[in-house]
Amino acid sequence: MIKRRLTMEKGFTCALVRLVTIASLLLFNSASYAKNVIFFLGDGMGISTVTAARIFAGQAAGATGEEYDLAFDQFPHLALIKTYNTDAQVPDSAGTITAITTGEKTRIGVLGVNSSVERDDCAGALTNTLPTLAELAEQRGMSTGIVSTARITHATPAGAYAHSPNRNWESSASTPDEAEALGCRDIAAQLIAMSYGDGLDVIFGGGRREFMPIEADDPEYPSRPGLRDDGRNLIEEWLAANSKRQYTWRGEEFVDWLSAADPVDGQLMGLFEPSHMKYEADRQRDPGKEPSLKDMTALAVKQLAQNEKGYFLLVEAGRIDHAHHFSNAYRALTDTVALSDAVQWAVDNVDLEETLILVTADHSHTMTISGYPRRGNPILGTVETEPGKPLLDATGAPYTTLSYANGPGYKKQRPNLSLIDTKAPDYQQLGTVPMPAETHAGEDVAAFAAGQNAGAVRGVMEQNRLYDVMYDVLIND
Ligand SMILES: [Zn+2]
Repeated sequence: MIKRRLTMEKGFTCALVRLVTIASLLLFNSASYAKNVIFFLGDGMGISTVTAARIFAGQAAGATGEEYDLAFDQFPHLALIKTYNTDAQVPDSAGTITAITTGEKTRIGVLGVNSSVERDDCAGALTNTLPTLAELAEQRGMSTGIVSTARITHATPAGAYAHSPNRNWESSASTPDEAEALGCRDIAAQLIAMSYGDGLDVIFGGGRREFMPIEADDPEYPSRPGLRDDGRNLIEEWLAANSKRQYTWRGEEFVDWLSAADPVDGQLMGLFEPSHMKYEADRQRDPGKEPSLKDMTALAVKQLAQNEKGYFLLVEAGRIDHAHHFSNAYRALTDTVALSDAVQWAVDNVDLEETLILVTADHSHTMTISGYPRRGNPILGTVETEPGKPLLDATGAPYTTLSYANGPGYKKQRPNLSLIDTKAPDYQQLGTVPMPAETHAGEDVAAFAAGQNAGAVRGVMEQNRLYDVMYDVLIND
């Protein structure tokens, strides 16, 4: 604020005063002026998902919906993002997050390594790693955090800290022995061994089982043991390496941290499910009372903002993608609205003079919004010209506004939708091509930006250029 006042003040005629002004500007720009990046990623949140979620949220609020704004709909800067991987027209989350966190596009399925590395090539991966934004930030003494509703070893959060020729090498059990013999570590082991700075300061998500040995029972679901076949308990190792670290799997303890007047002095890890966290639509039924994406974002920022040098925080709504793969638009949309709530929290609680908020998706899905539904027609409903009057397809059958190009929603014989509640949470939208899992889609996604350097998000951009936008905020040396 002082910097602003100095630059706006008029009438400095004395050279000495000018010198003092320049010195203060330099001082404020380097030492005490925090530069923060909060990077939100909706996994699989293509543009049709944003539009449908906007209508869904608006209708839940009692409006027609189409005119409603999600939090990031109100951001001042926007770009279209080309998402392809170096070897794939339609990408996956590993190649795309690598592009964003390292500045280089790479192959489908690999993490934090350049495009010379083929899938499963451990030796190649060891010599072709790419530094990530989180590693660079840690190196400079900044604070870093990752938050995800997916497993914390899943592709997107792993993009902050892991380097692997296969995104599926999440624990020792899924990493080939030959690769381990060559020196390739599984992704969970890489998380706790992060050697830059003091490692990640905030780690909130799912995926405890990747950190626990098969000999150990899960604390929330005793019948589900850990996955590790090397006997290691990485949660205990992470805690033992630094006395100022705290871990929880319980929602109550998380709430204690969140509601305390002061941040916790030290690093926090919360792993709230053995695998992925619950969908937002199912979260209230979780026995461990897992937190919302918004609350995880809030506690992460509370923790990271203690560092005067600034912070990098990656927040993933990881399960929009999973719901789409199940052809289940309801949960994809409710998780997108949960992401919007988290973004709104950030907008309301951080200083945009010193923070960049960037919201994007890694790739799209095949969901489409079609037919000619009337204004305000329920987004999960059948297409109607007025309430109770469905439009019919060429065979005389009603159809839904939302459908998928492929996936498990395929039906040889389409059911009579006038007898089915297509708005029910478990309803699977129709898929044209039968597939066990609906697929990603290859059209551009959007990137929305507000705050520091947001104006650099514009036009049609290669996905890896989002790295530059964040780098220029974080690394100002
Ligand atoms: Zn996916």
